Amino acid sequence: MDDLAFRLQDIRARIAEAAARSGRPASAVRLLAVSKTQPAAAIAAAAADGQRAFGESRVPEALAKMDALHDARLEWHFLGALQRNKARLIAGRFHWLHSLESLAGAEALSRHLSACQATLRVLIEINVTGAPSRHGLAPEALFSFLEAYTRRSWPGLTLCGLMAMGPQGAPAGEIRDAFARVRELAWAARDTFGLPGFEELSMGMSADFELAIAEGATIVRVGQALFGGRP
Ligand SMILES: *Cc1c(COP(=O)(O)O)cnc(C)c1O
Repeated sequence: MDDLAFRLQDIRARIAEAAARSGRPASAVRLLAVSKTQPAAAIAAAAADGQRAFGESRVPEALAKMDALHDARLEWHFLGALQRNKARLIAGRFHWLHSLESLAGAEALSRHLSACQATLRVLIEINVTGAPSRHGLAPEALFSFLEAYTRRSWPGLTLCGLMAMGPQGAPAGEIRDAFARVRELAWAARDTFGLPGFEELSMGMSADFELAIAEGATIVRVGQALFGGRP
């Protein structure tokens, strides 16, 4: 078995164990392979080992890899900051976007999705640590965002839940607390606004995905632990 196949198997096993520890089936947690900066060949190799979902954070780089692979089975997730001039390129090419943080962004995406009759699942990014360098809505801004968002319809967009990054390098307890706050926020939002299908929690990366699963993550975004260091 080569390194990638070995690491993929190892991460799948760790996901299953972490899910079992919190009484959930392994199928309740999806592995998103974060392939940013990795060559298309690495994605093809992971796909050959059964990995379907890949995460990218730069639009031109991602589109080039999609074109090189043109594998319809693959599911593409956009993780980078949503710049409005990129909405046109994202619509119809990506299946998920993890970084919604403004009505203007939703507006631009919805307009381009309508034009190409495509759909996109979106997660609202929450800046749970409050670090100024991070993107995302402040936790206390989510309800007012949803109040405005739910006032109209957004053709092409399906709002599916929240995405967040834990405090990197913090003690495990602090990381878990941050993920728990995101989970509580998501369920409070779902109940308050009666959002059907608002059930995804994209949390946890290479260093902390097991902690995120313990706090309810449904999608873990793993890059370096799977592909090795970024070139
Ligand atoms: C790069 C990135 C990841 C993956 O990080 P690793 O530490 O390589 O697992 C996950 N989420 C987002 C938003 C990223 O930008």
